[in-house]
Amino acid sequence: MFSLTPPDLGPWRAGNTGVEGVWHFDADVPGRRVMLSALVHGNELCGAWALKELLEAGVRPACGSLTLAFCNLDAFDHFDANNGDASRFVDEDMNRQWVPARLAQAGTRERRRAAALAPFVQGADWLLDLHSMHEPGLPLLLVGMHPRNLELARQLRAPAHVVVDAGHRDGVRMRDYGRFNEPDADQPDTRSLLVECGYHGDLASLDVARDQCARFLVTAGTLTEATAQRSLPGWQMPDAATQWALHVTDAVVARSEGFTFSQAFQGLEVIAKAGTVIGDNDGEPVKTPYDDCVLVMPSTRQARQGVTVVRFARRELLR
Ligand SMILES: [Zn+2]
Repeated sequence: MFSLTPPDLGPWRAGNTGVEGVWHFDADVPGRRVMLSALVHGNELCGAWALKELLEAGVRPACGSLTLAFCNLDAFDHFDANNGDASRFVDEDMNRQWVPARLAQAGTRERRRAAALAPFVQGADWLLDLHSMHEPGLPLLLVGMHPRNLELARQLRAPAHVVVDAGHRDGVRMRDYGRFNEPDADQPDTRSLLVECGYHGDLASLDVARDQCARFLVTAGTLTEATAQRSLPGWQMPDAATQWALHVTDAVVARSEGFTFSQAFQGLEVIAKAGTVIGDNDGEPVKTPYDDCVLVMPSTRQARQGVTVVRFARRELLR
């Protein structure tokens, strides 16, 4: 069910950098080099809409630079609202390829594309990577393990749920690439966030993408508050009343496509008792490991051997 239609990128597809889909603007005064990315997964449309609208609005950085990237255009070109999952990628998941060894092997379209994008990612001080989710659910900001990104989530004051996680076993995400994954002591000035804006096909995912872009650009200093209000009217939504940090402790990896949940979990359920059975992994009951365990992004949509189907998290009130 896709209420959100794919944007016609039109003239914005070309980019202005010599790399298709990548736009870069420099300010006259120094400042943070900021990058916003979308379509790392070809069926995640809200970020593409937000970037297109930023380009249409003629947004330019007040300082530093701004890079806007439509990432997996090959997959996006195959988007079909009746089979949304099919255009997540062409050959393999682009958001698992961000290690030098994989980027150097031009064996798949996603690796070649990621290698072309890599200089822009490494040239950014702050990165916001816009995604959406397989299932309906509240937005999630994924901050990785480094405290500097959790602190930025608190500064942004939205969304309400912030996931502290180490990523996936089957590869490295763009937001964990290179210096973004170095310790705070070595990289005090870099930040990278991945926002899951809600369900892929939901119009509200675009509201979240706009809100996150505006907050991120203002917090980075790329746009002044006044410029954001004028050029992006209505983009910023009210702050979240409270924010929870969800510290991911365990990932449940499917043994096969036969993985099932015991209920139709939506995500962010708090399971009171340790040892509660929440699913069946090829005959093995899947139990929560501690009291007040939060379920993060449960989904069997992509389930097959080796794919994470849910993560467990301890919650902490952030603000
Ligand atoms: Zn995604």
